[in-house]
Amino acid sequence: MFIVLAVILLGALGFFLVQGTKILPKDKREQYLSQRDPDDLPGGGVDTLEAPTEDGTGLGEPELGGGVDVAEPPVLEPSVDTPEPVAGRLARLRARLVKSNNIFGKSLLALLSRDEIDEDVWEEIEEILLMADLGTDPTMELVDKLRARVKVEGTKDPALVKQMLTEELTALVDPTLDRRLTVTADGRPAVMMVVGVNGVGKTTTVGKLARMLVAEDKDVLLGAADTFRAAAAEQLSTWGHRVGVPTVKSDVEGADPASVAFEAVDKGIELETDVVLIDTAGRLQNKSNLMDELGKVKRVVEKKSAVDEVLLVLDATTGQNGLNQAKVFAEVVNVTGIVLTKLDGTARGGIVVAIQRQLGVPVKLIGLGEGPDDLAPFDAAEFVAALLEDR
Ligand code: GDP
Repeated sequence: MFIVLAVILLGALGFFLVQGTKILPKDKREQYLSQRDPDDLPGGGVDTLEAPTEDGTGLGEPELGGGVDVAEPPVLEPSVDTPEPVAGRLARLRARLVKSNNIFGKSLLALLSRDEIDEDVWEEIEEILLMADLGTDPTMELVDKLRARVKVEGTKDPALVKQMLTEELTALVDPTLDRRLTVTADGRPAVMMVVGVNGVGKTTTVGKLARMLVAEDKDVLLGAADTFRAAAAEQLSTWGHRVGVPTVKSDVEGADPASVAFEAVDKGIELETDVVLIDTAGRLQNKSNLMDELGKVKRVVEKKSAVDEVLLVLDATTGQNGLNQAKVFAEVVNVTGIVLTKLDGTARGGIVVAIQRQLGVPVKLIGLGEGPDDLAPFDAAEFVAALLEDR
């Protein structure tokens, strides 16, 4: 049994490939540069392939896909992008948030600044909050708070009304939540898994996040464990390559994602990277398959290293659908943070509150565009200020 396993694993050595230039040891890099024919690449760029073993966790040996397919040689042009600094990103992207969401803020401010706020006006306020996807409970809470404050403080002074709304909305978004990403671990790479259904912007987010980490001087390695979408691994390694970050991937479509993830962590440990970032597949069509697969990826990775972050990517434009997805993923893996994408294209900023309530997990990052650096750390106060900006 072990001999058969060893033969299969040796055969599989050929189709894992580490791409990139930045953190490869110098001797290996020179080897790559002198051996650009894929057949000459030593072990397809991976020295050893330790497979997860059967140990009663219900995980068999990783299925390593069909025949061995040697991936294309690493592209080694030295030119790499310099990602934008992380500090100040939300401020830089603020205009996009203002543009897409401030109709919400403007309408609320206009209604709350009326001399007389009767029941019809309160109903309108409620409607606006619900339309922004704030969720029923937070909407009721906010309206109750505002009613109480309006009674005492009045509505004459628009600046005061704005301050009132700012304070109450910020409290709902919760500035006290710890939104930092775990990017360091003791004596090993920090391991982050990025999960979410297809189309939400998951692979793009992994690429943008890699750039953020590089901007913070982290050595990063990407694992392309979305082996079901044909172009995903290619898309990811292109992102990585632009900032000199290597990608572990399999060129065999449908290869076992857990194996690729395991290999990525293994390689990250070997190369002593700071962070290993793993992209995963997200087919929600078959919920139980997704659960099995994602759970397996995490458990297999955990044979090698703890998983420090599981980031769930949700598309802000999908409203209730996003909430349902969040529920499914939270059942499978212990989500540690939310990335809300496409906030530049929707007036449903209230989803930040709804999603945090639903999962009890903070929104850590927001996507505000398709550009490579259009991902920003989330900040409650800045977010609310942008929603209420009168422009
Ligand atoms: P995946 O299937 O979840 O991996 O999705 P992709 O990463 O391939 O992204 C799907 C589409 O969403 C792409 O066209 C991305 O450029 C786009 N996208 C991702 N994030 C954002 C964002 O924050 N804003 C906008 N406007 N588009 C985004």
